[in-house]
Amino acid sequence: MPLITRRALAAPALATLAAGGSARAQGAFPSRPITMIIPFAPGGPTDIVGRLLAESMSREIGQPVVVENTTGAGGTLGAQRVATARPDGHTVLLHHIGMGVIPTMYRRLAYDPVGGFEPLGLVTEVPMTLVGRKDLPAANLADLVALMRSSGDRFNLADAGIGSSSALCGALLANAIGAKPTVIPFRGTGPAMQEILGGRVDLLCDQTTQTTEYIRGGAVKVFATPSRARIATLPEIPTTAEAGLPGFEVTVWHGLYAPRGTPAPVLARLTASLQAALRDPRVVQRFTEIGTAPVPQEDATPEAHRRFWMADIAKWKPIIEATNGYAD
Ligand code: ASP
Repeated sequence: MPLITRRALAAPALATLAAGGSARAQGAFPSRPITMIIPFAPGGPTDIVGRLLAESMSREIGQPVVVENTTGAGGTLGAQRVATARPDGHTVLLHHIGMGVIPTMYRRLAYDPVGGFEPLGLVTEVPMTLVGRKDLPAANLADLVALMRSSGDRFNLADAGIGSSSALCGALLANAIGAKPTVIPFRGTGPAMQEILGGRVDLLCDQTTQTTEYIRGGAVKVFATPSRARIATLPEIPTTAEAGLPGFEVTVWHGLYAPRGTPAPVLARLTASLQAALRDPRVVQRFTEIGTAPVPQEDATPEAHRRFWMADIAKWKPIIEATNGYAD
């Protein structure tokens, strides 16, 4: 009798355990904190966007989304870390326009810059601004162009390494005006901005997500925005075309990625969390303050993200090839 009783109890207990086990294996995502890799330094524009997103996603997804800055090599080291991570959704990448230029710029990489990722959704598009140290002897873009042409390599241009938007913007500017500045690479434009503020570097092309407050506070000199239209929150800044440099446009887009091979339900859960973060009034408000806005919800999807990403690779390929803008 005792033996039978024990068996009778054991069977349902085992069934419950098995059901719980399989539910955990398949459905209970996330089962631990999620790491969001930012491929540039803390304090910079990508970091600012990533931390706002991570904070909101943490509240929604029920596990901390922890930001880690894996910096260096123009954002490729952070991307590599995610492309080679376990594809279980617990490691994601918040990257930018670099995902559109790196597949062409870098002819040798230790990861697949396209096939290594599952796009989860677009995040935002951010205008750039050309900002200089406060005491740079140039009052407007025409003065700046003249100064850059006449100073040769005595003129310093900061960027975040080949593959970054600041490097792309700086190279296009130098090419367009026929200047040969000395380029000083940093692990992100957060540290680059500190050198502009300290007056040790002359010029930086950077997103409004970092530059807005410095421009408003008069800590830097602003020359133009390489955008098609003026920035709603900084309407006094001319576009490069208005200031005499047509055909020179760079806008930074951000997207969220998981490693290739991440299960479909996990991808869907991450996309849902991204969409919720982009609807979060706190995120919307802060984005607005720093000169940007979340993408519409229909663009925060894997399909829209992949379309945009592929089009961006196709857009930059001929430009990089024509200017020989390779990293190697
Ligand atoms: N704005 C940087 C770039 O030049 C990167 C960063 O966010 O620090 O690509």
